[in-house]
Amino acid sequence: MAEVAVIGAGFVGLSCAYWLMRDGHEVTLHDPLGPGEGASYGNAGTFANYACIPVNNPDVFRQLPHFLFSSTSPLRIRWGYVPTLAPWLARFLLSATQRRYEASAQALAALLSRAFDGYREMLDDAAMHAFVRERECLYLYSSAASFEAARASLALRESLGVRFQTLEGDAIRALEPALAPIFARGTLFDGSWYLSDPRGFLQALHASLVRRGLTHVPAAIERIETGRNGVRLVDEAGSATDAQYAVVCAGAHSGSLARQCGDAVPLDTERGYHVRFPDTSNLISRPCGWAERGFYMTPMTGGIRAAGTVELGGFDAPRNRGLLDLITRSAREALPALPQPDSDWLGFRPSLPDGLPVIGTSRNSPHVLYAFGHQHLGVTLGGVTGSVVADLVAGRAAPLDLSPYNPRRF
Ligand SMILES: Cc1cc2nc3c(=O)[nH]c(=O)nc-3n(C[C@H](O)[C@H](O)[C@H](O)COP(=O)(O)OP(=O)(O)OC[C@H]3O[C@@H](n4cnc5c(N)ncnc54)[C@H](O)[C@@H]3O)c2cc1C
Repeated sequence: MAEVAVIGAGFVGLSCAYWLMRDGHEVTLHDPLGPGEGASYGNAGTFANYACIPVNNPDVFRQLPHFLFSSTSPLRIRWGYVPTLAPWLARFLLSATQRRYEASAQALAALLSRAFDGYREMLDDAAMHAFVRERECLYLYSSAASFEAARASLALRESLGVRFQTLEGDAIRALEPALAPIFARGTLFDGSWYLSDPRGFLQALHASLVRRGLTHVPAAIERIETGRNGVRLVDEAGSATDAQYAVVCAGAHSGSLARQCGDAVPLDTERGYHVRFPDTSNLISRPCGWAERGFYMTPMTGGIRAAGTVELGGFDAPRNRGLLDLITRSAREALPALPQPDSDWLGFRPSLPDGLPVIGTSRNSPHVLYAFGHQHLGVTLGGVTGSVVADLVAGRAAPLDLSPYNPRRF
């Protein structure tokens, strides 16, 4: 059995730790923060096994004027960041051709169809299962025209094995009576569910792994040095740790670590936001996503969390009040009983321009593995990614073709 260092305590890192420890490895987790404090904290909490449609679909070109200039657009760009983002943005747009979009959708569907297997055993533990709410996600369209525009992507989902029911106005309100009568169509996705508190889930997982021998070193890793038989990690305090394998799961911050291991992966971030409406969780019984506005309302512990939107703007810019206002206004339009929110959050989705994660070994050494770039789907895909990483360390065949997630595909 090997000593394995896992860098990052989000959905991906903790799932890797789980699967590696299940194989009997000795795992050390490196993260200056506690479990689920990065992007894994403030997301919409959906187990979105249906979400095989990348953000950059061919429709992006038709919708570009709306995205760039409409006050209700859920996609924004910080113009000052465009020079830095240009290579990523160019690849993002190039990936929106029909052929590449379909290839990305297929590769996402291949992971998503195994996503539940990644969590099944974990959820046998009552401490983790306590956070699962078995209510399908409802995706809403405020006009029949936008539902019609989504038909092609729904057909692609169907062809990739996603099952859903289509609902019209009255059926939507029968399901969720607190919703305003502004939604013309809805889709209810079979087999989807959500977490009532994503960080709470990860804290429970972390506690269970620590009880079974996981060591958590609370420091950021600054350097990875590769040797013939293993790796040396050097943290921010200058302390060095040797291990046989290192797994880079540092979410949106994984790029500089990958570069040190020979891979210039075009990782950037899609900033996303949430606002919380306190003590409102009984208003709806499931995650309700508003398609045109790009966010979900999820009934979580402590209140409804309205989470989503995409802002391309790097790590350093302040919160975009315009997007936070859009989410707040839209959520109150959809659910008129909502009070004012009491808090908001900005998180950094780790995103590659083709909408697929990076899962594989580094150029410089088979002892460094990557598991990052899960963009809008890290909650859903953490578990299966962890199981694939454990397969790679064990030298077992993975249950699917890993070439679409190859770090050197760009
Ligand atoms: C608004 C919003 C809504 C979302 N909704 C959903 C959803 O409903 N369903 C879904 O599946 N996904 C959703 N996502 C996406 C999901 O949250 C992310 O894909 C996921 O959290 C990424 O997990 P991760 O473990 O890769 O990264 P993170 O959770 O960001 O974890 C990375 C960790 O690495 C640590 N770290 C960074 N650098 C270092 C270093 N040098 N050394 C050591 N540690 C380091 C950080 O402290 C952090 O704890 C949403 C995201 C956003 C922003």
